[in-house]
Amino acid sequence: METTKCLIIGGGPAGYTAGIYASRADMKPLLIEGPQPGGQLTITTEVENFPGYPNGKSGPDIMNDIREQALRLGTDMREGMVSAVDFSKRPFRCIIDNEDEILAETVIIATGATARWLGLESEQTYRGFGVSACATCDGNFFRGRDVAVVGGGDTALEEASYLAKLCNKVYLVHRRDEFRASKAMQKRIFATPNIEVVWNSVPTEIVGGKQGFRKFVTGLAISNKKTGTASTLPIDGVFVAIGHTPVTDLFAGQIDLDEHGYIRTRPDSTATNVDGVFAAGDVQDPHFRQAITAAASGCKAALEAERFLLNQE
Ligand code: NDP
Repeated sequence: METTKCLIIGGGPAGYTAGIYASRADMKPLLIEGPQPGGQLTITTEVENFPGYPNGKSGPDIMNDIREQALRLGTDMREGMVSAVDFSKRPFRCIIDNEDEILAETVIIATGATARWLGLESEQTYRGFGVSACATCDGNFFRGRDVAVVGGGDTALEEASYLAKLCNKVYLVHRRDEFRASKAMQKRIFATPNIEVVWNSVPTEIVGGKQGFRKFVTGLAISNKKTGTASTLPIDGVFVAIGHTPVTDLFAGQIDLDEHGYIRTRPDSTATNVDGVFAAGDVQDPHFRQAITAAASGCKAALEAERFLLNQE
């Protein structure tokens, strides 16, 4: 059976950065990359806001750079999925791909979160070409243009508010006639002249075209649930903001999760309620959800894991 001082679960910005720091701290970390090595950035195109890339770079390339850095410093990177964990006693027992058993003195969970999508076929077609789940990441590509945001929670209203500063017009498409977002956010939305709320409407298709290899969006087809009327909003971009799902099913019952399934960490820390188990990145952060904030918390988790081991000695 294999043993490690530090098992990192998840190969996104948080996991790879934890790998960089844990390697430099001589913890010889073992990192299980999971189903989507590189994480959510691998489904974006150009990334302009990750520090260190003055001219922007593609999401997959950035993730590859961070992965290479972790590898070069000594992270033992493995393909595969963690299929079961037992956090009831240390060292923690983790099963990889239903077969291999690893005993880990510390665990850093960096399994991330997945954006919820509408489930339209056309949404898949134009993802990264006008369909996005992150205004902070992709809003800049729609400067001066018209866009739609779908959703009625705090995220959707925040995205709409952010985009209204960059875009000519923002349609905020919601399936009901009231928002679930906070009153303060609603007040801000209603006071923003270039945001038009489209109530009781569900998207039925993302309309677009193709020129050579380039795909682009030209409209959002919607159906009004009250009147049954179908119409198409003329827009260049669609931001889907209908929630995220943290990838924590594996840990339910083993560590504390909040009511939305995010891992609870101690204030100003990546420590969970289980001593020796840390959580970094989007799996414990419903608010910022940026690659750079995930990377930063991966760094913190590795430093805290190192300190934890030192205190055990
Ligand atoms: P929420 O679950 O709060 O909201 C999701 C929204 O998407 C709802 O309005 C929902 O509609 C709508 N929706 C869900 N599925 C579909 C679908 N298939 N088609 C169309 N619409 C759909 O998610 P958020 O990401 O907005 O927020 C998650 C948590 O994070 C919340 O607790 C929120 O308060 C918090 N948050 C806080 C922020 C802050 O404090 N600054 C910023 C961002 C988030 P319906 O209302 O009809 O169910």
